[in-house]
Amino acid sequence: MKIPTPLSQICAAVLLCCSATCAQAEQPASLQPWMNQALPAAQRAELVVQAMTLDEKLKLVYGYLGADSDWKKSKRPAGSRPQSAGYIDGVARLGIPPLYETDAGLGVASQPGPDVRQATALPSGLSTAASWDTVAAHAAGAMIGDEARKFGFNVLLAGGVNLLREPRNGRNFEYAGEDPLLAGRMVGAQIAGIQSQKVVATLKHFALNDQETNRTTLNVKIDDSAARMSDLLALQFAYEDGQPGSVMCGYNRVNGAYACENSYLLNTVLKQEWGFKGWVMSDWGATHSTIPAANAGLDQQSGMPFDLSDYFGPPLKEAVLNGWVAQQRLDDMARRIVGAMFEHGVVDQPVTVAPQQIDFPAHGAVSQQAAQEGMVLLKNRAGLLPLTNSARRIAVIGGHADKGVMAGGGSSLVYPHGGNAAPELEPKVWPGPVMIYPSAPLKALQGKLVSASVRFDDGRDPARAAALARDSDVVLVFATQWTGEGMDVPDLALPQQQNALIHAVTAANPRTVVVLETGGPVTMPWLEQAGAVLQAWYPGTQGGVAIASVLTGEVNPSGRLPMTFPVSAAQLPRPKLDGYPEQADARIEVDYHEGAAVGYKWFDLQRLTPLFPFGFGLSYTEFAMSGLRAELREGRLQASFEVRNTGKRAGKQVAQIYLAPLQASWEAPKRLGGFSKVSLAAGARASTSVTIDPRLLGTFDSVSKRWLVAAGDYRITLAAHARDTQASSVVIHLDAASYDVQGRPIGAQH
Ligand code: BGC
Repeated sequence: MKIPTPLSQICAAVLLCCSATCAQAEQPASLQPWMNQALPAAQRAELVVQAMTLDEKLKLVYGYLGADSDWKKSKRPAGSRPQSAGYIDGVARLGIPPLYETDAGLGVASQPGPDVRQATALPSGLSTAASWDTVAAHAAGAMIGDEARKFGFNVLLAGGVNLLREPRNGRNFEYAGEDPLLAGRMVGAQIAGIQSQKVVATLKHFALNDQETNRTTLNVKIDDSAARMSDLLALQFAYEDGQPGSVMCGYNRVNGAYACENSYLLNTVLKQEWGFKGWVMSDWGATHSTIPAANAGLDQQSGMPFDLSDYFGPPLKEAVLNGWVAQQRLDDMARRIVGAMFEHGVVDQPVTVAPQQIDFPAHGAVSQQAAQEGMVLLKNRAGLLPLTNSARRIAVIGGHADKGVMAGGGSSLVYPHGGNAAPELEPKVWPGPVMIYPSAPLKALQGKLVSASVRFDDGRDPARAAALARDSDVVLVFATQWTGEGMDVPDLALPQQQNALIHAVTAANPRTVVVLETGGPVTMPWLEQAGAVLQAWYPGTQGGVAIASVLTGEVNPSGRLPMTFPVSAAQLPRPKLDGYPEQADARIEVDYHEGAAVGYKWFDLQRLTPLFPFGFGLSYTEFAMSGLRAELREGRLQASFEVRNTGKRAGKQVAQIYLAPLQASWEAPKRLGGFSKVSLAAGARASTSVTIDPRLLGTFDSVSKRWLVAAGDYRITLAAHARDTQASSVVIHLDAASYDVQGRPIGAQH
């Protein structure tokens, strides 16, 4: 890139560098004014950036892959943590440490290779979302943050909150489902938990990166207001609740421009309108230019050599010297990075590598608890579950249940203590290895059901498995669906003839429980015959124990679906996945014609009956909900009600508030407006209330940049799930009102 440069600009740039260097007093970094912890982070950032040379600023905006790569024939930088996702040089002379980056959505991940970190894996993001418990999500985030810090990382590439628009997306397991409120609140809590450990979290992937097929080239077409009420709203809630230090822009294009050089998304929406003060890093291989990207709001190129060129290396220096990227813009990039480092304790409490300090048993307990909270009991005929002591002969079939539980593939993969329990599974390379965590449901069940005979069949021969089923009092058939980054699943069916196996087993013995370890929703052609179904997701490194606890009733299941389970792909907005099967580098268009009507909203709009609705999940006890009242309190709509446990066991109910306009028109008949998970002893009752974010009562007007609530009547519904026929409702009248982009009132209008 050779661009003629006005002489005056060169002089100005040289002078700036010189003045910065000269201004540097010869005193230890620790005594420099920006190390004063009493000053606000922004001021400290300003001071230290003033003291930086041009080259020092440039170092901060250029990231490396933290692992040796056979694929790219590259070696990791000397200072990086082995087999890590990323590394950025610090400025040692000014007391700014390097950035040590790790993937961490589900635990501290490792890049593949001989020296992986053995760490604690949480259940999948969908499982955590299924808990509907923000306190649990915060605790899970804090666990990851602590583990990452002790492995020596100070930037965590977590949390992911791409909306589940596409049930076949291979990365759904990393995210938090289809509803912007639920997904945003859960991931926001996880981010806050991570950052409570004095490390930076990264909200990703910004934005609309909802399928893996052609993810690096596809162009998402969506109307602005629809995006604001769906994918962007999930990101916005997560951003507001979590206050992440960093945001990662995605691979895809949005309305024409790459997400990492999309000035509308980065400069206008994220930085100006939402007020994001941290830095935008690119996904690994998602930077496509120097000048457009820098001026569009990208602050840091990540993971070199993933990109085609070192755009934010020497070319950026040249662009700054030429004036095509203003010096102030480079200063802004540097200020954003060090500002977030000061804000989140990365400078004041530097990380060290001390894995011996990690309390793995305590972390295992957090993971197990999270898995238990997220399991969703989808069917339970005649109280087949929990397993009772009267079941003497129990068959456990399929799903590697003798070895462990499944994990999803790709950059989020956490390598467990004890290694892969099924290293023979294919693929062994990216986005593999297919990982089975060595927490075997079979062993856990045998440990809990000591007076029963628990026998195993691997399920490869359905006739043999059926024979065992016939000779058993109860059958537990495990089914797995492996999904991973960089690929979508071809359809929603369980792979590898597992449906045939389940058909055979349920036909042989109707007292069959199907345990699903899947990346997302699957179809269930055998549902009628099955006695019970437990959705266990990818349940993490303690998954086998967690599953056994729920099956035996030690734990009462309390998860609720964070997405709709369709009957078939024909019910989806895109019955055929755009671009599938993938043609490498095809620049496809993906038209989100459904706009903001994602998931249950689409099903409501189209009057489709799903296999299982959003929010659904059974318990071993029963609940009643009553006394719904809706009122305005200090300008905010509040719904209050009572939940009672009418059954014989302690349990948890997830009360869900849905909103529906009676006159105004929304993208769909109703939206989730709030939720509350209530824990109740048998016979106990509790009063609770939820406050509704006003943005969920309005529509986003892209012209005025306001959320507009129309005057009229609104139905407020208290329900156990999105299709609850027992739900109760009240109607409230709302005056017209408008709110700014961040949901702050602008003033009531009549
Ligand atoms: C993924 C990101 C991840 C990065 C670093 C990319 O392939 O899309 O989510 O953080 O790699 O591993």
